[in-house]
Amino acid sequence: MNILVVNCGSSTVKYELLRMDGETDNKVIAKGLVERIGISGARLEYKTDSQSYARERDVSDHRVALKWVIEVLTDPEIGVLTHTSEIDAVGHRVVHGGERFTDSMVINEDVLNTIRACAELAPLNNPPNILGIEACQALMPQAPEVAVFDTAFHGTIPEYAYIYALPYEYYEKYGIRRYGFHGTSHRYVAERAARMMGKKPSELNLITCHMGGGVSFTAVRNGKSVDTSMGFTPLEGLVMGTRCGDVDPYILLYLMDKEGFSLKEMDQVLQKKSGVIGISGMSSDTRDIEEAAPTNHRAQLALDIIAYRAKKYIGAYYAILGELDGIVFTAGIGENSSLIRRNICQGLEPIGIIIDPERNTVRRKEAFINSDHSKVKVMVIPTNEELMIAIDTYRLTH
Ligand code: ADP
Repeated sequence: MNILVVNCGSSTVKYELLRMDGETDNKVIAKGLVERIGISGARLEYKTDSQSYARERDVSDHRVALKWVIEVLTDPEIGVLTHTSEIDAVGHRVVHGGERFTDSMVINEDVLNTIRACAELAPLNNPPNILGIEACQALMPQAPEVAVFDTAFHGTIPEYAYIYALPYEYYEKYGIRRYGFHGTSHRYVAERAARMMGKKPSELNLITCHMGGGVSFTAVRNGKSVDTSMGFTPLEGLVMGTRCGDVDPYILLYLMDKEGFSLKEMDQVLQKKSGVIGISGMSSDTRDIEEAAPTNHRAQLALDIIAYRAKKYIGAYYAILGELDGIVFTAGIGENSSLIRRNICQGLEPIGIIIDPERNTVRRKEAFINSDHSKVKVMVIPTNEELMIAIDTYRLTH
């Protein structure tokens, strides 16, 4: 069966077409993205095993963008399909599923209405996700659609870990609680880690470290998320490219008073001007920071803070898990930066986490990087959210 995976951002559509002959028997047959939707000069990229293609044209909205994607997929010269009807199902990344969805769902009117209701909790993400769903319904009415939620994997977090110590009425009134994000990535790498270790996910306790532009760690007990560092929004937790992660909440009140910031300005500081770029003052990209660190104090400081806070989360999650079998590093930083992985693990030897410097040089492929006498296995696993979405879509529509 052919499954189209769609990930709609505010001005982008990422897509991947997979042929699935079973949950473990799959192949990507085409993939790409459309950028600058709603801005002049949108660009489509398209890649297959044998070719790569890019074009520009104006694209007013997500529906026009998806129509273009289908046009290319079914193009007589460069396409991999002869007709849209060969797309058997569509899997959508949806950022927020609220409290209701703890698994992926086949989309019907009721599910779509709940996703619409969650838009208030994810105002930047859910609206484009909804546009993508509506566009695919119109363009491929024969294909069932599945929503795969970033929040769903964290649906197993216990109440005492998701309720904030704020007046309880705000949870009841506004749904203020920890939801967690990157769930599709955490679930994917936890399942792959189990496979690498020759165990079932239900037999393992893991800490999965998703470190890309956004960063979140998850404590996984017996295959289920029991705590995660992102909270009500993807702002909480570790140090990110431009987001602050944990701060004393009073700082916000203090700064709004001192600097006269509006809500919008304060939001910009927390989301866009903090984290690695805020500390270093030079870049949000850890590659630049690593290069500058030997001669630049604030770049080095950013690296030190990243590792220090990561260690604190690993220690906290080790404490709540009791037994720890493995740690997984994934996403841009986790898959590539041997320096940051080393900095994080250094000093954790007394709790059984020992990495091997030679094995730690690995990049972008599945590997154990722990030494032979490390009690805890340490792994690098490239994340693959698209594949996880395709597998769920296959499971729910097959
Ligand atoms: P996103 O979270 O935006 O989807 P990624 O997971 O690809 O993106 O992560 C991107 C980030 O990964 C970059 O901003 C950069 O900080 C980091 N990164 C990528 N490659 C390297 C590398 N070789 N060394 C250090 N950091 C890297």
